[in-house]
Amino acid sequence: MAWINETHMRLALEQADLARLRGDMPFGAVITRHGEIVVTIMNGEGQDIDITAHAELLAIRQACQRLGRRDLSDCEIYASTEPCPMCSSAIFQSNIPRIAYAVSRDDLPHIFRARKIRIAQLAEDWDYTPDVVGGVLSSEALLAFDGLEKSHRVVPQFHSVQHRAVQHKTR
Ligand SMILES: [Zn+2]
Repeated sequence: MAWINETHMRLALEQADLARLRGDMPFGAVITRHGEIVVTIMNGEGQDIDITAHAELLAIRQACQRLGRRDLSDCEIYASTEPCPMCSSAIFQSNIPRIAYAVSRDDLPHIFRARKIRIAQLAEDWDYTPDVVGGVLSSEALLAFDGLEKSHRVVPQFHSVQHRAVQHKTR
């Protein structure tokens, strides 16, 4: 893909490394516009005690503030790992048309559970056609996960059964 700039992805990978150094999972994101960097940011979940502080979400929030608008349709986002459904939705809500990520969850089955809903599927649910490209510098990106055994996903303390979405039935 002509628009992909590996230098920008490397900045996202650097942010992932920095997140791991401070005890968070190694995720980083960069948003660019016309080849210029708008935001570089790392995962802040543990540091900020904020379950929504994923790198991509923080990047979108800051980019909107810096550009003074909610529409990021002239931007690109580089994520060190495939964006989760929450971040993917935010990416599409903000109209970002070009999405590059390095590592896919499939590359790290010992850390991440398999997901049924992936960014490519969510992309199909939007009213524009985003360009989603995975595997950019993936071998470099995998280094950030060396020695990590499992995801630091927050363990639910107050329920023991698996929750399941149930459609309420009316008669
Ligand atoms: Zn996310």
